[in-house]
Amino acid sequence: MTAKSAAAAARATVYGYPRQGAGRELKKAIEGYWKGRVTAEALKETATELRRSTWQRLAAAGVHEVPTGDFSYYDHVLDTSVMVGAVPRRHRSAVDADALDGYFAMARGTQDVAPLEMTKWFDTNYHYLVPELGPDTVFSADSTKQVAELKEALALGLAARPVLVGPVTYLLLAKPAPGVAADFEPLTLLDRLLPVYASVLADLRAAGAEWVQLDEPALVQDRTAADLNAAERAYRDLGALTDRPKLLVASYFDRLGDALPVLAKAPIDGLALDFTDAAAANLDALAAVGGLPGKRLVAGVVNGRNIWINDLEKSLATLGTLLGLADRVDVAASCSLLHVPIDAAAERDIDPQILRWLAFAQQKTGEIVTLAKGLAQGTDTIAAELAANRADLASRAGSAITHDPAVRARAAAVTDADGRRSQPYTERATAQRAHLGLPLLPTTTIGSFPQTTELRAARADLRAGRIDTAGYEQRIENEIREVISFQEKTGIDVLVHGEPERNDMVQYFAEQLTGYLATQHGWVQSYGTRYVRPPVLAGDISRPEPMTVRWTSYANALTERPVKGMLTGPVTMLAWSFVRDDQPLGDTARQVALALRDEVNDLEEAGTSVIQVDEPALRETLPLRSADRPAYLDWATESFRLTTSGVRPDTQIHTHMCYAEFGDIVQAIDDLDADVISLEAARSHMQVARELAEHGYPREAGPGVYDIHSPRVPSADEAAALLRKGLEAIPAERLWVNPDCGLKTRGWPETRASLENLVAAARTVRGEL
Ligand code: GLN
Ligand code: ZN
Repeated sequence: MTAKSAAAAARATVYGYPRQGAGRELKKAIEGYWKGRVTAEALKETATELRRSTWQRLAAAGVHEVPTGDFSYYDHVLDTSVMVGAVPRRHRSAVDADALDGYFAMARGTQDVAPLEMTKWFDTNYHYLVPELGPDTVFSADSTKQVAELKEALALGLAARPVLVGPVTYLLLAKPAPGVAADFEPLTLLDRLLPVYASVLADLRAAGAEWVQLDEPALVQDRTAADLNAAERAYRDLGALTDRPKLLVASYFDRLGDALPVLAKAPIDGLALDFTDAAAANLDALAAVGGLPGKRLVAGVVNGRNIWINDLEKSLATLGTLLGLADRVDVAASCSLLHVPIDAAAERDIDPQILRWLAFAQQKTGEIVTLAKGLAQGTDTIAAELAANRADLASRAGSAITHDPAVRARAAAVTDADGRRSQPYTERATAQRAHLGLPLLPTTTIGSFPQTTELRAARADLRAGRIDTAGYEQRIENEIREVISFQEKTGIDVLVHGEPERNDMVQYFAEQLTGYLATQHGWVQSYGTRYVRPPVLAGDISRPEPMTVRWTSYANALTERPVKGMLTGPVTMLAWSFVRDDQPLGDTARQVALALRDEVNDLEEAGTSVIQVDEPALRETLPLRSADRPAYLDWATESFRLTTSGVRPDTQIHTHMCYAEFGDIVQAIDDLDADVISLEAARSHMQVARELAEHGYPREAGPGVYDIHSPRVPSADEAAALLRKGLEAIPAERLWVNPDCGLKTRGWPETRASLENLVAAARTVRGEL
């Protein structure tokens, strides 16, 4: 190979594209189908049309090889389960009766049958359906979907490459099926799974696939020698097949580490690697193994999961280095474009200058094509694009939006002391006890009360101009009055205002902070037909005015009992937004923390004695590689403490997280130095209480005694039993009584009944102390 011939062969490609369509047609069609308003035929037609328009859009932009099979009615991991015949026993009859309905039954459950569990796809906000496997699992190949979609693309005259979840990642993402021993390792099924992949590959080859992509992102996580061994075996066996297409194994989201030499040596035909900042180590690692002589390298130089324009010259430099390392170097996004919105050009409300800094799927495709052209035909052929890119990057770097001197000076002046409460916990606890006068086992909720249709209608009416701000605020105040009066009547000790004014716990704050942008059409798939519109942390962050004080104070004035102020923490603000890529995450977190700190201090000033700062995302943002975790937890916990440390010792700081397993971050939770933490615990029978106790967690905690994820009302006896369990781990002086999470998704009838039972349980158990 020569660098010159590798360059001349350069092509543009992507691994996947947003599925929903520019007008979210797919969501509408699927939800219509569920409601019986859209026929299966019509749904399939919509899907076919969406795939066609996506491929044609890609081809028109200059992409040489389009992906197929990445489309999904719900989730591509679920599609893989169907492809390998891993349908759980409880769903089999539904699938046999009707493939499409059975598919949705696996995804969403039915009246009688539970769905597959859903969990986050690596460290993204996309969720996949977890395969359920066991020693009895019998795989069987069903290549129908993959073959059909490949044929559709080929029929359009396009070069197409099917994209599949690789066998190793598929097994590593699976869990033991219900009834199977918890220590069963799905990876032990590899030898049974490989023939199924071989059969699918043969079918794809027969249908005209020259290349097939196998995605193995699980190999960017910490892996054991056994895992790596499995990867080696998998690709040795698949590579040895005679009747197969060329194999491209893809990884993304982080560096491959020890898996890189394994894949580089495997008898496959190409590797696709992430070369964005998060995985920059891949470059040296690839050189260290001597590159990929005779093979195809697909270089993910355009960030596929954030929305900023690429630094084209920097990418060209990376690509230039890579040219000497493979037979052919193609250009791609670092991962599927599934994780970004479709088209920045659809945004009408964003300042045109800022809009030029943004690249959604459509713009990223253009960047990939430009880079491939520059590589293949010389950079003078893309001189105009490079000049425009340079100007846009300079405009971003020099903008007053990204560089607010006041924000920067304040962040630079932060000292260690700013992130420490003025007194240690034990002294604060005494002061808070005296100040708040709460009973043992105090009762509270997590913040939100049901978001009723009336509340949503009020927001829609305001947006549409049917009511004015005063009319809207009137409705919010009415709701707060009702929520406060209900809590007083029920006998809850620490009240909340119910968060009726919040559309979303991140967006609400993003809309009020300077430096944050909202998009109009920036929808990204979270799971199934659920799409979210993450706000954009675009510039330096400041808080022009208090954001919540008005509502909390209004609630406070209605009651003698303490009302808890309610904020979203800095880590969660970052995790559920698109973040800046032009400064370290920790710097952005610090700016957000300082803005929130002002809010915390203003709440205290306005007479709020209890303030909760929610950090449900603390754990999900944990880096994929354990080596990167200490640095993350450092800035994450520091930003929380910076948010909450400006208050008096007798002001009580709460935090909340929504997961039941957190053994790996219990030290970080301790490092937050919050006075009280509430956590999800009802389903795991207070497991978190035991974990906190084992760790020696010294502060107060409220492991949830009411599972808010279903409309089911827990009885007072049930809640009392959970409380007694909690007391085995946490002493009465430090135990709180609360639900697992906020009540916004619940209806009023079950909320009322459940909270009455929760208070009754607290009273019963207090009587036993
Ligand atoms: N305070 C928020 C609520 O109650 C917390 C939500 C969350 O933990 N995700 O809705
Ligand atoms: Zn929660």
